[in-house]
Amino acid sequence: RRAAFAQLKNEVPVTRDGQRVTVMVNAGLRDDLAALDLTGADGIGLFRTEFQFLVSATLPQREAQRRLYKDVLDAAGDRPVVFRTVDIGGDKALPYLNHDEEGDEENPAMGWRALRLALDRDGLMKAQARALIEAAAGRTLNVMFPMVSEPWEFDEARALFEAQRSWLSARGKKLPIEIRYGAMLEVPALAEVLDVLLPEIDFLSIGTNDLTQFLFAADRAHPKLALRYDWLSPSILRFIRRVVEQADAAGVPVTVCGEMGGRPLEAMALIGLGIRRLSITPAAVGPIKAMVRSLDHQGVRALVTTLLAEPRTPMRDALTAWAAERSI
Ligand code: PEP
Ligand code: MG
Repeated sequence: RRAAFAQLKNEVPVTRDGQRVTVMVNAGLRDDLAALDLTGADGIGLFRTEFQFLVSATLPQREAQRRLYKDVLDAAGDRPVVFRTVDIGGDKALPYLNHDEEGDEENPAMGWRALRLALDRDGLMKAQARALIEAAAGRTLNVMFPMVSEPWEFDEARALFEAQRSWLSARGKKLPIEIRYGAMLEVPALAEVLDVLLPEIDFLSIGTNDLTQFLFAADRAHPKLALRYDWLSPSILRFIRRVVEQADAAGVPVTVCGEMGGRPLEAMALIGLGIRRLSITPAAVGPIKAMVRSLDHQGVRALVTTLLAEPRTPMRDALTAWAAERSI
């Protein structure tokens, strides 16, 4: 089976009825870049920039950041890369940063992390913005911000990047052709103000790992909760459907970049909800391409609509049975 998946690297992920699904990979270090060619993925839909910070004993200098980002863009070539600004703090504390000024956190996942920390201590994000803009000179730069909870946080982060672009421009530096800005949707509150956010952003990416933990108030790393809440629950599926409908209406592309999208049955349900872009762990690209290529897109859309109208239906069983009948 593994060999069969490897052979899929040159096959395009398109459903039997012609719906193209964009399948990208999640990455974070130079070592991950080989996965692009090995899997034949459509790009890097989530580059977790904090990995470079987490594996380093000291704060990575701007030049080291720029070199990494340029290597990533070179490896990707014509394929798009989405850089996520650092998602540190909380449980991803850095030894060389002083996180302790607010004292220990009782709920680090909901704490002073990601964009919250980055906007309060903006020196780090300014350096990262400079490194990204310089690395992407002459190309398109896609940046997205983690843990956006209210639209103003996105606005401030983008303004910080734009100020760096102006600064570099004033010094005659070569700039990216275009900077596209996106938000991660992983804090449920943001979904209630999508109408405010959507006109501001170029793309949206749903982080189902954090989204699920916040939607169910269930720690994503807690072993006793691991099997309790299903990604195929009507709560999650309905939530995502609403987001997709709003984003589609606004013409904003939406990707799912959490682990959910790397599991064939879950990915099938996501396609049924209208998701057409996935960013997943590289090992899942083969299985997901195989699933997509055996799928009838209209059929799964109709199925998911029927199932969500009857939310007491055990979703996983129903989706499994439907897929088995069709040898998906
Ligand atoms: C997510 O939360 O779903 C996500 C993709 O980001 P991370 O797993 O890095 O928190
Ligand atoms: Mg997350």
